[in-house]
Amino acid sequence: MKSGSLSLLSVAALAALSFAPFAQAADTEPPVVTPGTHGSAPSDAIVLFDGKDLSAWTSEKGGAPQWKIENGYAEVHGSGIMTKEQFGDIQLHVEWASPAEVKGDGQGRGNSGVYFQGRYEIQVLDSYQNKTYFNGQAASFYGHNAPLVNACRKPGEWQTYDIVFHAPKPGADGVVVPGSFTVIHNGVLVQDHIPVKGDASTAAKFSGATPTGPLLLQDHGNPVHYRNIWVRKLN
Ligand code: MG
Repeated sequence: MKSGSLSLLSVAALAALSFAPFAQAADTEPPVVTPGTHGSAPSDAIVLFDGKDLSAWTSEKGGAPQWKIENGYAEVHGSGIMTKEQFGDIQLHVEWASPAEVKGDGQGRGNSGVYFQGRYEIQVLDSYQNKTYFNGQAASFYGHNAPLVNACRKPGEWQTYDIVFHAPKPGADGVVVPGSFTVIHNGVLVQDHIPVKGDASTAAKFSGATPTGPLLLQDHGNPVHYRNIWVRKLN
């Protein structure tokens, strides 16, 4: 075999390793999980917000979150909030609504965000008939990758994100092993197993690849609503 073919093969093998699927062994019985209905938490999920309290969270600035809780949702106020628990690879479900009263435009309309490990932001934004740069609109991996389509509902309507995140991890040789994002927005695939190489998003609280970190919901000065947040650990 020519050396050119070898190096091509090596690149392909490395790429396959970096994006190996989360596989189930053929001789292991898949665990039984009772699924939720209409986005409710399945039996093996950790519920992070059930509409009643934010006891799983702290303010980004320390202390208890100052967010207003009413009618089963929490409204962004005062500062971002982050989970007390640290997470690595996860499946996350979160529901959000941008303000029904439309104010501002571009990045100033209904801006918040879900920062995985306090580092990598999946953007929350009112992108319903509201133009901005593509890798900054709703469901973008902020600053890195635009969504495949714009699946935004109207301002004030509840929207869902179902996100599979594999964390980039520090490798033994000091080189970061890429992770990945897969994002489904309102039932529509918008990020298809895209690489997460360890570069934190703009305004991230933390930086540097790490096995685990907190989930963080961003305060961008807009009263975005959140409800029904749950997570399943994948490792
Ligand atoms: Mg944001």
